[in-house]
Order: sequence, then C-alpha cells, then structure tokens
Amino acid sequence: MQVLRTAMYSRTQNENGSFNTRCLDCFMTIGFAVESELELDEIEVRHLCPERVLSELFRRAAEQETLKRAAGF
Ligand SMILES: [Zn+2]
Repeated sequence: MQVLRTAMYSRTQNENGSFNTRCLDCFMTIGFAVESELELDEIEVRHLCPERVLSELFRRAAEQETLKRAAGF
C-alpha cells in the first residue's frame, strides 16, 4: 500500500547510540533501543498503523457515499 510506504516517523538517538522511532500518525513508539538504521527501516515498514487503517476505511466509505449519490440513490 502506497500510504504505508510514505509514512512519517520520528527517529531519535539515545545516549548509547541506539535509536527509537515513533509513528507520527498514532504517536506510538514502535521501535525502542534499536541498534541500526537498517533495523529502523524494517520496523517502520512492518508497522501497521491503526490511525492510517482507520482513515483509509473512512476514505473508502466516503467514496462509496459519493458513488451512491452520483448514481441517484
Ligand atoms: Zn502508527
């Protein structure tokens, strides 16, 4: 899904050099004390964001409403 690949995350580095990453859509910390940026990429790609799943559902529902109205229902 395109939406998931263009997702925004906030990465911070800890004093010991490890990283945390937080999803900017649901504000959940999805990676904590991660060793490498490569691992961060994997964690971020795997994150199934509840916020984005919901907004996708609402978008589809709105689209169907528009279609129904256009069809005259
Ligand atoms: Zn999220």
